[in-house]
Amino acid sequence: SLRLAEFDPDLAAALRQEARRQEDHAELIASENYASPLVMAIQNSVFTNKYAEGYPGKRYYSGCENVDMAESLAIERLKALFDCDYVNVQPHAGAQANAAVFLALAQPGDTVMGMNLAQGGHLTHGNPSNFSGRHYKIVPYGLDPQTGRIDYDEMERIALETRPKMLIGGFSAYSRHKDWARMRAIADKAGAIFWVDMAHVAGLVAAGEYPDPLPHAHVVTSTTHKTLRGPRGGIILSKGQDEDFYKKLDSAVFPGVQGGPLMHIIAAKAIAFKEALQPDFKTYQRQVVANARAMAAVLLRRGYRIVSGGTDNHLMLIDLSGKPYTGKDADAALSEAYITANKNSVPNDPRSPFVTSGLRIGTPAVTTRGFGVAECERLAGWLCDVLDALEAGRLEPATARVRAQVVELCRGHPVYQ
Ligand code: PLP
Repeated sequence: SLRLAEFDPDLAAALRQEARRQEDHAELIASENYASPLVMAIQNSVFTNKYAEGYPGKRYYSGCENVDMAESLAIERLKALFDCDYVNVQPHAGAQANAAVFLALAQPGDTVMGMNLAQGGHLTHGNPSNFSGRHYKIVPYGLDPQTGRIDYDEMERIALETRPKMLIGGFSAYSRHKDWARMRAIADKAGAIFWVDMAHVAGLVAAGEYPDPLPHAHVVTSTTHKTLRGPRGGIILSKGQDEDFYKKLDSAVFPGVQGGPLMHIIAAKAIAFKEALQPDFKTYQRQVVANARAMAAVLLRRGYRIVSGGTDNHLMLIDLSGKPYTGKDADAALSEAYITANKNSVPNDPRSPFVTSGLRIGTPAVTTRGFGVAECERLAGWLCDVLDALEAGRLEPATARVRAQVVELCRGHPVYQ
C-alpha cells in the first residue's frame, strides 16, 4: 500500500519482490502452500490486539467474549473436520504443539522413539540439536535400505528392546502411506503412548486421501499451513481418551509452553477449517496426489531415482547419490530456473544435511494455483532438463529456457488475482 511504501520503502520493496517471486516461481517445497485471501485478511485484523490467556470461557483477562467466539468456531470446525472429541487450536506452530505433547506425556530423561531426521523424520522428533533430543533419550527408527520404506519389524524389535514412553509416527520427507494400525500395535506391545505428527499430510487426511491416524493414535499434532492450507500454526487433536489426558494437553500448551494465544491466527484457523470442510477441498487434495504421481512418473521415465520408487502422497524424495553433483547444487541450479525445491538428506546419505544427496519436491502449492497433471508433467520435465544440464556441466542455455517457460506457465495460473 501507499502508506507502507512511504513509511518503510525498504520493507515495501521486500514485500513487493516477495509477491512477484511467489507469482513467478514454481513452488515445489513440499511443506509450503498459498493461504486463501480470506485466511490472510483475517490475520490482519483487530483480533491481533487481544490478550486471551486461558481457554474460551476461562480467560485471565476481560473483554474476551468475541475472541472466545472465534476460538470456539475454530475448535468446533476442527473437531468436525477430523471427527475427534478433543482439539487445541492454540499452538503457535508445529514445534510448539510437539513441545506441548512432550511436556504433557513424558518426563525429561524418558526414552522416546521417533523417525530418524536423516531418513524422513522431523527435528522435533528427537534431533540432538532440538529440545526433544536434548531433554529426552531418543531412540530412532528408520527405513529398510532395500525398499526405502519403513521397516516395521525393526521398529518393533527396537521398541520391545528399549520400551519407550512414546512412539512418534509422522514425517517430513516420506512419500508412502504409514501403517498406523501396525504402529499402534507396536506401541501397545511396548507399553508406549502412540503419538502421530501428521503435519505434512493433514490436508490429505482431512480429505480422505491418506490413512487417518486419529482412530489409532492417543494424540495427534499438526501444523495448519502445509497441505491443510491455513495460516502458519499448530494444533493438537485426540479422540477416545479420558478428560484427565485432555487436561494435561491443554495445560501443557498454556501455561506450559506458551503465554497469550495468537487470536488473529486462531481466527484464520477457523476460516481455514471451514474451507477444508467444503467439497472442493477434497477435489484439491485428490489433485495434489494425482499431480505428485504424475511428476514421479516423469522423473522415473527420465532415469531419476525416487526413494521407495514412487509416491502415495504429496511429496517425493529424488535420490541423487552417485551423481556428480549434490542436493545443494541441484537446489541452486533449479532456483536459477525459478523452480523452488529443497535439498534433503536421503537414507544413509554420506553428505552433511547442509549439502545432501537428495532433493525433496511436493505438489501442494502448485496445485493450489491450478496446475493439473499436464502442467505438473511439463514442470517435472523441465526439472529433469535442468538436472541433466547440471550433470553435463553446462547449465546454460537450459536454465534460461526453463525459467522463461516456468514464468509463462505461472503467469497463466496467478496465485492471487
Ligand atoms: N512436524 C513436522 C512433521 C514438520 O514437517 C514440521 C515442519 O516442517 C513441523 C512439525 C514444525 O512445524 P513449524 O515449522 O510450524 O514449527
